[in-house]
Amino acid sequence: MKIISADLNEIDGILDQYLKRQGEVISSADEVVEEILYDVQKKGDEALKAYTAKFDGVQLDCIQVLSGEIEEAVNFVEKEFLEILEEAKKNILDYHMRQKQNSWMTHKDDGIILGQMVTPIERVGIYVPGGKAAYPSSVLMNAIPAQVAGVPSIAMVTPPGKDGKIHPYILAAAYVCGITEIYKVGGAQSIGALAFGTQTIPPVCKIVGPGNMYVARAKRKVFGMVDIDMIAGPSEICIVADEDADPRFVAADLLSQGEHDEEASSILITTSVALGKKVMEEISRQMACLDRRDIMKKSIEDRGLIFIVSDMDAAIQLANKIAPEHLEIMAENPFLMLPKIKNAGAIFLGNYTPEPLGDYFAGPNHTLPTQGTARFSSPLGVDDFMKKSSIIYYHKNALEKVQEKVIYFAEKEGLTAHANSIKVRVER
Ligand code: NAD
Repeated sequence: MKIISADLNEIDGILDQYLKRQGEVISSADEVVEEILYDVQKKGDEALKAYTAKFDGVQLDCIQVLSGEIEEAVNFVEKEFLEILEEAKKNILDYHMRQKQNSWMTHKDDGIILGQMVTPIERVGIYVPGGKAAYPSSVLMNAIPAQVAGVPSIAMVTPPGKDGKIHPYILAAAYVCGITEIYKVGGAQSIGALAFGTQTIPPVCKIVGPGNMYVARAKRKVFGMVDIDMIAGPSEICIVADEDADPRFVAADLLSQGEHDEEASSILITTSVALGKKVMEEISRQMACLDRRDIMKKSIEDRGLIFIVSDMDAAIQLANKIAPEHLEIMAENPFLMLPKIKNAGAIFLGNYTPEPLGDYFAGPNHTLPTQGTARFSSPLGVDDFMKKSSIIYYHKNALEKVQEKVIYFAEKEGLTAHANSIKVRVER
């Protein structure tokens, strides 16, 4: 982990140098993903089974999860965990219900009605990663906003284990959300199946959910044919802390992102050199007792940064430039700093709001913009599952009032057929 004294005037160069966010324009996975997508489009289920055998090490007879398998998983999962899933679902539901937009109509002038009709996307596919670990939280965070939006048809895909089964915690989360259309297929092949459709899997209109590079590259390639939510990069946390912040808390939260993967980035911005040094000591101490220390060690060594700045205003300015996925503010009055924050996926205020609260339980979505995309994009939400249609009504009299202007406009664009569609209505 490096300590850097940051002068804001020179910060742009420093950020480019240290953040390592450039991202690959062409990935080594592209070729293999293209081949997989091509095969799925041509051969459907046969390709899904062949790639599942190749990458997940299991030969499947049936791709779809049967209701008995969901029951079996629910019986297997600890009662306490089911209760926690239910409570998390309630919090996520409450939060997302507030995001729902309604259709509206307005009478503008005599004989004119304008409006916007909001409708859910008809069918959505949710990718739940399942290669190296199980993520039941991904089921909740993707399914619940879709359900709040009113999406009538939701299909879930996730890779099976070598025993041909889906992880019981993932099935339990699906059960809690009422998702029953589930397929045992992962990777680029599942994205192809959702986009093109196969004999077993009807195609969807939008694919959401995080995954590894094969999943991400496949989503990028099918975008346009279907919509996608975003391409998520490695996890990021940025903590803005004043000199009174507890180094144990700061270190623990930096490590909580470091354990996601070697490319995760953990950044502290502080006014206090003493805090920075204590946080470094704490990181070494806490890391030694944590399971995924090898991953954290690499990510903290390669991408861990401590910026020392002159004051808290400079700290926020720097955080705005970084535009992190997760921003924690550990300062005396974090709410006073809130209006100055411009770019962040999720903002965690105060000493007792660690980022994992948002991952699982608090209610806001954990699918967030990474790699600085918080400058222009937002967390996954109900809006991602809805679309809007404009509504226009003109009475004959209202059309007659404006006909000359519209005809004039159309003729200026050289579109005489446009002008004609007005003329035929107003000619006596
Ligand atoms: P995954 O489900 O994304 O990928 C597993 C699949 O990858 C396999 O089923 C296989 O089909 C395919 N695959 C594996 N090796 C391949 C190869 N050599 N060629 C072609 N395809 C291959 O699971 P994962 O690998 O564990 O990755 C999950 C990712 O999702 C991680 O990067 C994790 O950090 C991320 N994640 C992000 C969030 C979030 O909210 N941002 C949440 C959970 C997980």
